[in-house]
Amino acid sequence: MSDLVLLSGGMDSATALALSAQEGRAGAVLNINYSQRNAAEIQSARSLAEHYGVDYHFIDLSSWGAKLRSSFTDPTIDVPSGPYSNGVYGDGGADSTGVTVVPSRNGTFVFAALGIAQTLGHDRVVTAVHADDHDVYPDTRPEFIAAVNTAALLSTSGTVTVHTPFSRTSKAGIGKIGRSLGVPYELTWSCYSAGPSHCGTCGTCILRHDALTAGGHTDPTVYAVVPELV
Ligand SMILES: [Zn+2]
Repeated sequence: MSDLVLLSGGMDSATALALSAQEGRAGAVLNINYSQRNAAEIQSARSLAEHYGVDYHFIDLSSWGAKLRSSFTDPTIDVPSGPYSNGVYGDGGADSTGVTVVPSRNGTFVFAALGIAQTLGHDRVVTAVHADDHDVYPDTRPEFIAAVNTAALLSTSGTVTVHTPFSRTSKAGIGKIGRSLGVPYELTWSCYSAGPSHCGTCGTCILRHDALTAGGHTDPTVYAVVPELV
């Protein structure tokens, strides 16, 4: 009984890995290159796997990601600044949160992980989708995850399920859980801009800072511009 944790290198999946480790189920992590703009998160994922002493698996879906129109993968589209708002993929201009949607990213990642989990003998794929993503990212919503779980059981002959520990938890809630588990957030990377440090102005940086400072805690992240709390 062990987990294959989808690990991006960000704070949410790092916390999911910590939770899995606490349950004695952390078997391995799967880190995916999908042509994201900042390679720093891949190094973060390697560091986190080493920290938790789990097997690190890496797959390259960069040619898949390069086909997608999203500010997270296409360097010709600016990453919008400011907090996330509701957005629909393909709707609105360059400043719309909808432009940050990577079409079917989570679904693709989960199904890529299912085959590897079944091969390696892990009985759960863990993905850190959370409640604050539901408005913008359709493949993080509970109804999608329920459908994926049905498909996962069918495609793996009932041997692998999809576990989403944070599907009803906010990002601030994830930070609270992570602090109680001693997650080394200084090793994590969230920003989707391509700079040498977290930009501090994109929606992800703002959410990260908000989550890590909730309850009066100190955010260990180095930002180019310290985000304003929302
Ligand atoms: Zn940023």
